[in-house]
Formats: sequence, structure tokens, C-alpha cells
Amino acid sequence: MHQKLSRIGVTVVVKVVKFGGSSLASAEQFIKVGNIIRADETRRYVVPSAPGKRFSADTKVTDMLYQCYDLAAKGKDFSAEFEAIRARYQEIITELSLHLSLDEQFETIRAGFIGKAGRDYAASRGEYLNGILLAAYLGYAFVDAADVIFFNENGAYDARKTVHTLRDTLAAYERAVIPGFYGSMPNDTIKTFSRGGSDITGSILASAVNADLYENWTDVSGFLIADPRVIENPERIRVITYKELRELSYMGATVLHEDAIFPVRKAGIPINIKNTNEPEDEGTMIVESTSQKPLFTITGIAGKTGFTVVNIEKDMMNAELGFGRRVLEVFEKNGISFEHMPSGIDTMSVIVHQSEFGTKEQEILAGLHRNVHPDTIDIETDLALLAVVGRGMKSTRGTAGRIFSALAHAHVNVKMIDQGSSELNIIIGVSESDFSTAMKAIYDIFVIHQL
Ligand code: ASP
Repeated sequence: MHQKLSRIGVTVVVKVVKFGGSSLASAEQFIKVGNIIRADETRRYVVPSAPGKRFSADTKVTDMLYQCYDLAAKGKDFSAEFEAIRARYQEIITELSLHLSLDEQFETIRAGFIGKAGRDYAASRGEYLNGILLAAYLGYAFVDAADVIFFNENGAYDARKTVHTLRDTLAAYERAVIPGFYGSMPNDTIKTFSRGGSDITGSILASAVNADLYENWTDVSGFLIADPRVIENPERIRVITYKELRELSYMGATVLHEDAIFPVRKAGIPINIKNTNEPEDEGTMIVESTSQKPLFTITGIAGKTGFTVVNIEKDMMNAELGFGRRVLEVFEKNGISFEHMPSGIDTMSVIVHQSEFGTKEQEILAGLHRNVHPDTIDIETDLALLAVVGRGMKSTRGTAGRIFSALAHAHVNVKMIDQGSSELNIIIGVSESDFSTAMKAIYDIFVIHQL
């Protein structure tokens, strides 16, 4: 069956579909996932996460596994925690009336915990068990990620070996479930990606099987133009490019693991973020580039609080060769990375994370005095940064002007401006107390006034 994905004009034959933890947290969620997969026969390769939270105070199975293993590693009794994990899976099996027993797997895992098989091994069992369960529920083959996803001796992902093995292995299966989050090392031990890493497995798989689309199913209908904790009911982003997404994720918009972008991007495969609880919603399409005009001049606004600015002033600093390098050297020596570095005539500002800087403050001040002999150094804390991102900004005159007049109208004092050379983003520094007012003002001028 071929299916036309009209919005981006792609003909779909194979989709890789990844379901996040909340999409597979209970039997009720499994039923939704089953319906989604059965509704479209191109959804052939499925990557599950471990069962996530069923309600906000619940604990993810991955976290239960870490806690349980930490007890085991200290030689303490872990049976109660272990049984609680078993109960999470058993509840799903019972409610789905599946003829499946995971007893054997649980015995192997218990032995692994006693034998101190490692934290990664422990955490990976969440996806492993959920993969077996989902494969049984769908009637799909189960392919253990340990046999197809590889890391090298240094713990880096081994793309060559993985893609080769995945292609060979999956050629034999029309449909399969491959658990997310982990793979194996050359010595056969298990290693996981960082938290949220099932997104990466899905992306690797999509590129290995030359999928036409990578669907990433979660509990939101894609990316929103602004943070819903600040803006009530913000509009959804329909199409976003990888570059725009990178800018927004860096500033705190999190739906997808950042490392999940690379494999599909390299293969030119779009990602569609979809909502398991609202499967009819179109979600957000992430693409390499698009001729589609964005609905609004801006694609999104994201922001973060908790920054400090170190303002350094010295007469004629421009004439001093190596001034900037000597400033940054002080930060580097103290293990502090900088976020931005706007400069003016005789002034240079270094923006850093407040929490990191706080512990090294006096060493850095002393180091700066020694290294560059400034006239003054002044420190401002409680700064928020806002990133206004959009491919549409390049071709639209007056974007910056509109942003700053909106902020002035809202009585927000702008402390810093930094426009990326790509013209894809403008970063604005404001006081933390102005953070939400600033975000609202920018959202209003570009979205509400344009609707
Ligand atoms: N289960 C893992 C985690 O909680 C990986 C994932 O969900 O993608 O981080």
C-alpha cells in the first residue's frame, strides 16, 4: 500500500514508529498504540520506550530499575523494588489478556542484578521487557536491540556496524519490534544512550531501513510556538526545519532527544511528532528544508532563566591583541563554558549559567584582573534569555524592529541582543522578572496579531 503524505509530498512505503513511555504506560495506552499501528500497514518497524508515568506522581519503570539496581549493587535487599517492577508489566499483560509469561526474563534479570551487570544493563531492561510485551500484543517479531545496535570500545555509537547489521537482520522481517534506548558493546555488555534515548534508536532504525518517515509518538501534538506554561494554549508548529529545531531545543524546548536528529537528517528522512492520545492531530513535521511558507514570521519562541552576565570594561580594549582570548581563558580554566558573548566598544560581556558561575565567582574575578587588567568588572545576575527563531525572519524586513517595539510597549527593558549570523534567530536578554511579559509580548505581536 502506498500512501501520499500530501503536506510534504512524500510517498510512504515504510514508516518507523517510536512510542514514548507515556504512550505505553498502561494496558489502556497499549490498546491505543495497537490501534494506531494497525490503522496503517506502512508502520512496520516499532520502537518502544519502557512504561512511563500513568499519572503525574507515578514513577517511570526506568527510574524504578535504576533505584532497584542501586540497592542490588550495594548488596542490599532489592526484592520489594523488583516485585514492583514485575507488577507494572504483569498488570498490562493481565489487562490485555495476553498469554505471555515474563518469569524467565525476570529470573535472568534478577541474576544480572545480583551479579552486578551494570546500571546500563539494569535500565535497558525496561525497554527490553516492553519490547517483548508489545511484540506479543501486535503479533510482530521481536528483535533484541543488543543484537543490532552497537557501541565501540570507547562507548561511542558505532554507525557502520549497526546500519549494516540492522539492514541484514530486518530484511528477514516484514514487521518487527526493536526496543529503544540500548545496544551492546564489543565485550557484549549492555550500554544505553543518555536518558530519552529511544528517540535515537528510532532515528537510527529509520535511516537504516530507508524509511520514508520517522513517526515519533508522544503525549503532545508536536512542538508549540511558545511555552504553554507561559502562554495559554499556544499555536502548534506545523512544519519546522532541523536548524530551527536545534535553536529552539538549545533554549529549552524539549520533545525530542537532540541526538535523534542526526541519523534521519543525514538520510533526508522527515520526522513527524504525533500524539498517541490524539492520533488525528497532524502533529509537527520536522524537515531538512521546505518551500512552505511558515504560517507566521516566527516559527517559535523559547527561553531559559538562570543566567549571569559578566561585563568587562577597559579603555581601548580593541587595540589589545588577544584580549578576548585571555578573558575566555579564565572561564575555561575554571571549567565554565559561556553561552553568549556580545561586545561593544571598550566593553565585553560574557553570559554564563548562574548555577555554574556561582561556585567559581571569586576565582574568575581574580583571574580576569590578573589576565586582562580591566577598568571595571560588573556582574548582573537573574538574567533570562529568549530565542526568537524562524526561517521566515530572513525574508521579512522589520522583524527585529517589531520585537523591540513590542517589548518597549510592554515596558520590558532589553539588556542584551544577539542576532545569529544565520538570521534564523534573535536572542534577547531580559531580567528574569520580565521573562513571561517578554514572551507574551513577542507571541502577541507575531501570532495573535497575525491570526
Ligand atoms: N526509558 C528511557 C528513559 O526514561 C529511555 C526513553 O524513554 O527514551 O530515559
